[in-house]
Amino acid sequence: MEIQLLRSAEVNESLLQDVVPILDFEPPFEVNTIPTPIPLDDVAESMGDRFLRMKTLRSDRRIADDCFLILLTSKPNTENWFSSFDSSERRNVFIQTNDWEHYVDCENKYAVAYGVLANCLQCLMFKSSEDFDWAHDPPIGCVNDMCSWKPDITLKMRTADICPDCLAKCEENDVVRKFLDQALPLMGKVREQTLFTASLQRKSPNRDLFPFPVAITARKLRQTREPLRRFLSLIDHFDSLIRTTTLMAARIYLPDSFDDFAVRNKLSLRPSLGIWLRGLQDLGRHQGLDGVTSADFQESFELIFRKAEEDKLVHIRNEKRAHGYIDVHDDSYKNNFDDYQQAISNITSILSKFFNAFWLIYVKQDDFISHGEACASGWRLMGDHPDFVQEEIRYNPKEWGSRPFVNHVYAVPQHGGAWFDLHNSIIYGKCPECEHNRVLMADGEQYLDPYGGHRVRLPQ
Ligand SMILES: [Zn+2]
Ligand SMILES: [Zn+2]
Repeated sequence: MEIQLLRSAEVNESLLQDVVPILDFEPPFEVNTIPTPIPLDDVAESMGDRFLRMKTLRSDRRIADDCFLILLTSKPNTENWFSSFDSSERRNVFIQTNDWEHYVDCENKYAVAYGVLANCLQCLMFKSSEDFDWAHDPPIGCVNDMCSWKPDITLKMRTADICPDCLAKCEENDVVRKFLDQALPLMGKVREQTLFTASLQRKSPNRDLFPFPVAITARKLRQTREPLRRFLSLIDHFDSLIRTTTLMAARIYLPDSFDDFAVRNKLSLRPSLGIWLRGLQDLGRHQGLDGVTSADFQESFELIFRKAEEDKLVHIRNEKRAHGYIDVHDDSYKNNFDDYQQAISNITSILSKFFNAFWLIYVKQDDFISHGEACASGWRLMGDHPDFVQEEIRYNPKEWGSRPFVNHVYAVPQHGGAWFDLHNSIIYGKCPECEHNRVLMADGEQYLDPYGGHRVRLPQ
């Protein structure tokens, strides 16, 4: 029985190549790929239309009835589902290839592979959509969990199990049983990649592109499932995105007038999210920002301010976090969550250009070597794990006109050029609350430790 993987044109072929080895089936099952991709529109189509399209494709290509046809796509569907099988007898499945990172802490290929396994199993187990009403909602940690609340996906992936009722149903049919016998161990392998502990050993190159204060709140968000906590984590992540950007950009663009900027925007007291955003807007308007780096960040700062206003992000934040009572019903958070997440996800992609232009470097030591050359060494404060990579940067002090201060954190342009001192706005040192060395972010008169979630006053 064949499983054929197909992609839509915008999905990279390498994803197919990455997923196939994970689906390590033995006969009678085998996995193959269809080399030519199919074009899909940017406009969301309904799942029904998508399955019709696949049905035509099947007959055009004379794909056998018992063969699974799996479409991997990043194009949206109107129902906003991550994956589904066609419930009208045909073995058609589509799997979304993007946005998994908001819900599970593993590489995309594992989430997609899990989707293939689960949907093929469901195709075999359930003959019609009525039958699939059987799916568990709320989730119980079974492959047939509905997961209408998307963060629950992490639960079923981390259990990689099947409940006794579903198991009994599988045993009624020999083919289903045979498929399950192979699919369960494969799900187990995917599971190993999704465990929270697995992320401790793993370093994802992409995530290392973000400075630690932002990367860590993004990781906490991915690892939170319960609706209220997840909503609060999302808000924390948004706070951190805006605070980090404003502090870095102000130190980079206004190195000599940072204090004026802080006073003008009231950043010196106890700044709220709205105040940080206004600071960012101020930076967007400031003359003379261009030329620091080639990228035009000024426009993006203005754009972020406008988007946050349009989407009422500050209002929702204040309503849900600061002033409102906590709603006892999870649904109220679930309802807000998708919209809010989408808005923040858009803002993140606008900001990624800015974040990817600089490394955050903590200078621990700075020595003259020889021939007028110096070497600054310390930690690169990037990525979502506090075991930072050691960094050594050789430079010519004459070229720079100055040497970096030891114990200061710098924004170092990734493509070379002068460093920007972030001292007092972002520091690396002992958090008085947890007594560990942490990246600490200025928050008015106090500092935030985004790793421990502490708000602390530093000894003078
Ligand atoms: Zn079940
Ligand atoms: Zn701490």
